[in-house]
Amino acid sequence: MSAESHSAAEIPERLRQVKEEIVLAAEAAGRKPSTAELVAVTKTMPAAAIEDAIEAGQRIFGENRVQEAQAKWPALKALHSDLELHLIGPLQTNKVKEAVALFDVIETLDRPKLARALAEEMKRTGKRPRLFVQVNTGEEPQKAGIAPEETADFVTLCRDTFGLAIDGLMCIPPLDEEPSMHFALLAKLAKEIGLDELSMGMSGDFEKAIAFGATYVRVGTAIFGTRVLLD
Ligand SMILES: *Cc1c(COP(=O)(O)O)cnc(C)c1O
Repeated sequence: MSAESHSAAEIPERLRQVKEEIVLAAEAAGRKPSTAELVAVTKTMPAAAIEDAIEAGQRIFGENRVQEAQAKWPALKALHSDLELHLIGPLQTNKVKEAVALFDVIETLDRPKLARALAEEMKRTGKRPRLFVQVNTGEEPQKAGIAPEETADFVTLCRDTFGLAIDGLMCIPPLDEEPSMHFALLAKLAKEIGLDELSMGMSGDFEKAIAFGATYVRVGTAIFGTRVLLD
C-alpha cells in the first residue's frame, strides 16, 4: 500500500525539516513560531508510519475520511492521550456521531444541516470538538465549503441558532491557481468576522500560507511521501 511512502527512518527527518521550515516562515513573517502549528496529514498512511511521527514528537494529525480514521486512530489515541486529531475532509450528516466521538477538531463545517446535526450530537454527548468553517474560496462548483460572501452569515447562524462556537476558517485553494489570493481572502474573512484560527497551506505552499497568517498548516506528502491511493 505504501511502496512509495518514505521509509521509517525518513519520517522523523522529513518532519524535522518541515517544522524547521515552518519556524523560518513564521519568523520571516514577523510571527512567533509557536503561532503556526503543523497538522500532519496521515490519510492513506499505515499506523506504523503514524507511530514513527508520534515517536518523533508530532501530536497534531489530520485525516480526511471518517471511516479510515476510525480504523486507525482509536488504538493510537488509547496509547497517547495527548494527540489532537483534525477532520479535514467532507463530513456527511450520517457520520456525525462517529466524527464527534473521534475528532478533536472538525475543520469542514460548511452547511446548516451539518451545523444542526453537530449541535445535536454535541449536546447529546457533551463532547465538544473545536469547529472551523470551510470556505470555498475559489467558488468551485464541485468543491465543499461555504461561499466567501455567505461565510459571515453562516458563522452567525452557527453561533446564534445552533449555539456552536466557531474557532476559525479553513480553505483548500483550487489546484491550478496561485494560492496566495485564496490565503489572503480567507485571512480577510476571518479578520472581518473576528475569528483567530486559519487552517490553510499544504506541502506545496505552507510557507506562503504562513506569510498570510495560517495558524494551522496541513502537510502530508512532504512528511510521509507520495500517497499511492487516491484521495
Ligand atoms: C491531503 C490533504 C492535505 C495534505 O496535502 P499534501 O499536499 O499531501 O501536503 C491537506 N489538506 C487536505 C484537506 C487534504 O485532503
